[in-house]
Amino acid sequence: MRCHFDKNFKNGINGWYFPNEVIDKAYRNSGILMLDMEFGTKCSLDCHYCFRTNDVRDRLRPTPIAVTDEEVIDTVDQAKEMGAESIHFVGKGEPLEEKKFLLIVHHIVREGMIPLIFTAGHVLGDDRLAMDIHGKTGIDIVKDLYKSKASIILKINSLNHKIQNEVVRRPTIRYKDGRSYDFNYTKFRDIALERLMKEGFNRAEHNPTRLGMATVMLKSNYHELFHYYRYFRCLNIYPIINTVVPCGRTKDMTEVASISPTKEEKLKLWKQIYSFNIENGIKYEGISSYVGGHICSQLGYAMYINVFGEVFDCPSSTRRSIGNIKVNGADGERLSELWKKSTYRRRYHNCRDNGCPWRFKHSAMIPRTLFKKVHEYLKKKYPNDRNVKNFVPPKYY
Ligand code: SF4
Repeated sequence: MRCHFDKNFKNGINGWYFPNEVIDKAYRNSGILMLDMEFGTKCSLDCHYCFRTNDVRDRLRPTPIAVTDEEVIDTVDQAKEMGAESIHFVGKGEPLEEKKFLLIVHHIVREGMIPLIFTAGHVLGDDRLAMDIHGKTGIDIVKDLYKSKASIILKINSLNHKIQNEVVRRPTIRYKDGRSYDFNYTKFRDIALERLMKEGFNRAEHNPTRLGMATVMLKSNYHELFHYYRYFRCLNIYPIINTVVPCGRTKDMTEVASISPTKEEKLKLWKQIYSFNIENGIKYEGISSYVGGHICSQLGYAMYINVFGEVFDCPSSTRRSIGNIKVNGADGERLSELWKKSTYRRRYHNCRDNGCPWRFKHSAMIPRTLFKKVHEYLKKKYPNDRNVKNFVPPKYY
């Protein structure tokens, strides 16, 4: 499959793609550009690789208390004052299973920022569940999110129902009537995908696109990943293909090794994907842990707040908490004070490519030499590609 990406193509998703001049301005102002947040803890699924289940970061305080809606709104407002252009919602929990979530989305929009939502999608595809939680259908929520200028990143580990349902491990669901029903998650996820596309989240005019798909590399889906990459790229759906991170259920490296592809398989996938990019016009800017996607530089301009108000450098940070934003919590600090305290803010200031310090620590995730090997391979394979030829690898390669 070939598709063409012209020189103006933006390799990212709206709300997570920032032009260099915008990043420079954030650095000059010592501000932030985005904030990763959690909203609620409800989730009907039970993914075997969940990075937020059994997470030691939830046990940092003797009695952690979840942030209130008011604290979420206050934090969003603080982020805006610090220069944030987008608020990202990542797990713990499935944000769309929270009744108040759309109110938070609307607040973000009123403040002139972009909401970017990681979702498993079943609420958008299952009208009964959507009505139970939000009092409107999945289609109406999709329309609302489109109007709200949100970007959506949908969980797609596999298009194969058997493989996908084995990942989420939830054959039944409880609706409002309190009874348990058979549940085919992937059927509703697929309906959500159709609805998002029909509404226009991935329309060609969106550059960067407003629709992404997120998957983790597993033994069970490895053979499909390159096909998915091509397929979704050609549909203007941003593919986020990544390894697991060393948190939650995948903290233990023996477990990681047992569910992940081998390092040879990973090397092959990275080579295939970057070859596809170069042959189809996606500008080479170095190797990313989001294979083929944007280069991560967010450690210099973003933070992550978990559902208990603990602040970290990014959602996968295994370093200690920088502090807690809860007004009545142990610290109750302002976001700007915590930002000043962040050692990673200083370390990665002006950095265009921070790699992924968390995954690099464990060769079962990303082997240390992988990026260098892929870059050397591309230099040999595409000696005349100017971007490959002129690329100066960062020191960590
Ligand atoms: S440092 Fe790693 S885990 Fe954190 S945002 Fe970047 S790529 Fe993702």
